[in-house]
Amino acid sequence: MNGSFKEVPRIRFAHLPTPIEELGRLSDALGGPRVFVKRDDGTGLALGGNKTRKLEFLIADAIEKGADTIVTAGAAQSNHCRQTAAAAAKFGLGCVLVLNGHKPDGASANLLLDSLLGAKIVWVERREDRERVQGELCAELSTSGKTPYFMPYGGSTPIGTLGYAFAVEEAMKQGLDADWYVFGTSSGGTHAGLVLGARLFGFRGKVLGISIDESEEWLKARISALASEASELLGPRVEVRPEEILANDAYCRAGYGVLTDAEIEAVGLFARTEGLLLDPVYTGRAAAGLIDLARKGFFKKSETVLFWNTGGQPALFAEKYQPYLA
Ligand SMILES: *Cc1c(COP(=O)(O)O)cnc(C)c1O
Repeated sequence: MNGSFKEVPRIRFAHLPTPIEELGRLSDALGGPRVFVKRDDGTGLALGGNKTRKLEFLIADAIEKGADTIVTAGAAQSNHCRQTAAAAAKFGLGCVLVLNGHKPDGASANLLLDSLLGAKIVWVERREDRERVQGELCAELSTSGKTPYFMPYGGSTPIGTLGYAFAVEEAMKQGLDADWYVFGTSSGGTHAGLVLGARLFGFRGKVLGISIDESEEWLKARISALASEASELLGPRVEVRPEEILANDAYCRAGYGVLTDAEIEAVGLFARTEGLLLDPVYTGRAAAGLIDLARKGFFKKSETVLFWNTGGQPALFAEKYQPYLA
């Protein structure tokens, strides 16, 4: 099938394929279903994570367009920003990160790594200010003779989405016949890619995103549009409709990055049954959803769930989570 796609620039630097492992002790603790994990926390770039798959396409696009500076955005503990800073460093590009929040006195976790990786950090007060400031910074860079590459937060453009479309091909080749893909969804690129990949490569299971911060309605509209648009980069448009997107927003009521008992339980349960580390913001919340849905009998005991570990573990070391996790 691969050969029939249009050629899209990609630089291969992720450690792929990421392993699939069975989580037998976790499945036992839940009383079913059978749970496996796709280790996308091990993609190899500066502690890894899901953004690395997107960056294989985004960095290739930036270089093809002659860009010399990447301008992207995120939260203070953004995994996307950390991986983007690393990819920029690896390919000799400048990197400017627009982060929302207040500059802390001491940088920890992802924020510490951003500086270590040579990124320039610009703080904005509110999340809604990020995109405007990114645009202003790009204009300033252009005026000073640079060639900026505007990368939306999360790297969730149609180009970035391709990373997860091909991840489905990769997972299917690994031979696990999963009934469900379960993962955390936020800016939508991971989810859109998995949905598109499922269509292109004939995955017969269901693709269920657990929302980290957005409403089900927003996610359905956003992800269907992103998947459809991304498909056009590879060939004829695949029309994905909002009602085809499975997104559950029941676990994000506390707000982005707010740790509740559910995330604390999930991080602890995965750690103690499997020695597997989740992160407090994304995979911890997604796993809390998986655990609750399993307990409610949403998944059949005979079914197989593939949980995508999208990374984010550096945030375990963020100062703000220490009182909860220690
Ligand atoms: C960004 C991120 C996600 C969500 O991916 P999107 O493509 O933004 O929806 C999930 N898990 C982790 C660890 C992330 O950093």
